[in-house]
Amino acid sequence: MIMGTPRLEIDLAKIGHNVREVIKLYGAKGLTMTGVTKGVCGDPLVAEVYLKNGISVLGDSRIANIRKMREAGIRAPFILLRLPAPGEAEDVVRDCSISFNSEMKVIRELSAAALRHGARHGVILMVELGDLREGIMPGDLGETVKEVLSLPGIRLAGIGGNLACFGGVKPDAKNMGELSSLALDMEKRFHIDLEYVSAGCSTVYSWLKSVDRVNRVNNVRLGDSFLLGGRDLEEKGIPGLHYDAFTLVAEVIESKIKPSIPWGEIGLDAFGSIPKFEDRGTGRRLILNIGRQDVFYTQLYPRVDIEILGASSDHLIAVANTAQLQVGDEVKFDVDYGAMLAAMTSPYVQKVHLNRDSA
Ligand SMILES: *Cc1c(COP(=O)(O)O)cnc(C)c1O
Repeated sequence: MIMGTPRLEIDLAKIGHNVREVIKLYGAKGLTMTGVTKGVCGDPLVAEVYLKNGISVLGDSRIANIRKMREAGIRAPFILLRLPAPGEAEDVVRDCSISFNSEMKVIRELSAAALRHGARHGVILMVELGDLREGIMPGDLGETVKEVLSLPGIRLAGIGGNLACFGGVKPDAKNMGELSSLALDMEKRFHIDLEYVSAGCSTVYSWLKSVDRVNRVNNVRLGDSFLLGGRDLEEKGIPGLHYDAFTLVAEVIESKIKPSIPWGEIGLDAFGSIPKFEDRGTGRRLILNIGRQDVFYTQLYPRVDIEILGASSDHLIAVANTAQLQVGDEVKFDVDYGAMLAAMTSPYVQKVHLNRDSA
């Protein structure tokens, strides 16, 4: 394969290592794990690494990603993580064993679609734990469980909660404790056993390391931990993991000595804001062949001493501090979640998988 730029190198062996280490860590507390693939757009080679290293259930937020993995021959139960929209029930039932839900209107449609397929579709009811993304308010959970149990095409597979995604609310003993007690309440009240009491996302690590007992929580949904070593909310990774399984590579397409302040009358930039510049004299400026269309540039961390100033759609502008770089030289970057996600999504960024055999 010709290695062009820009490209995203994915070290499958490093991801495999992360999966094995995280399974040891969470397994020791009695938790099973759902391997989340949405950060890599359902990349079948990454899914394969999850499964090979001990994950047995996969989760993704998009039906298209799940279908892509199935068509590539990935065999595992799939959980749809994003609430399905009304009208998607047929697709959900066909491609996913289980979906996360919070709306009865959709769950009724799923039940009808499942019956048409002669199957029962698994539903995990999401409960709002304070992060204010998806979830049924805790006080309304009992009523919803009751209705779900009455639907012939649905199997209540469990309940779940999601934190640190929208509101930035940290998983802690209190909100995780609430998830546990809600599960216990429902089991007692309706004489049921919930297969999943599921928490997410990777930031559950900050809760896990602070508690001895996970109570009734029995599953965690992890993507970032496997892919990028699961930096917790203090921005440190889980010890012993690789944080650099992904490398973004771009190429220098211009390298010139220029002043640091634009001249001429200043109006709006291409993205609708008025740029501000700090005068740091004249120095070597670099242009790299990647831009906002390909990557979330504020989450790029160069592995050489250059400083990113900004980006337009197709250009990344940087100052070459002590780095000696010429036109045609490649520059490697670490990525955070948003940058990884955008680079995976961009058709202009080539994906190169490394070390598949040793993963
Ligand atoms: C994305 C997502 C996860 C996994 O998040 P990571 O930060 O990648 O671990 C878990 N649960 C839900 C519902 C999600 O949408």
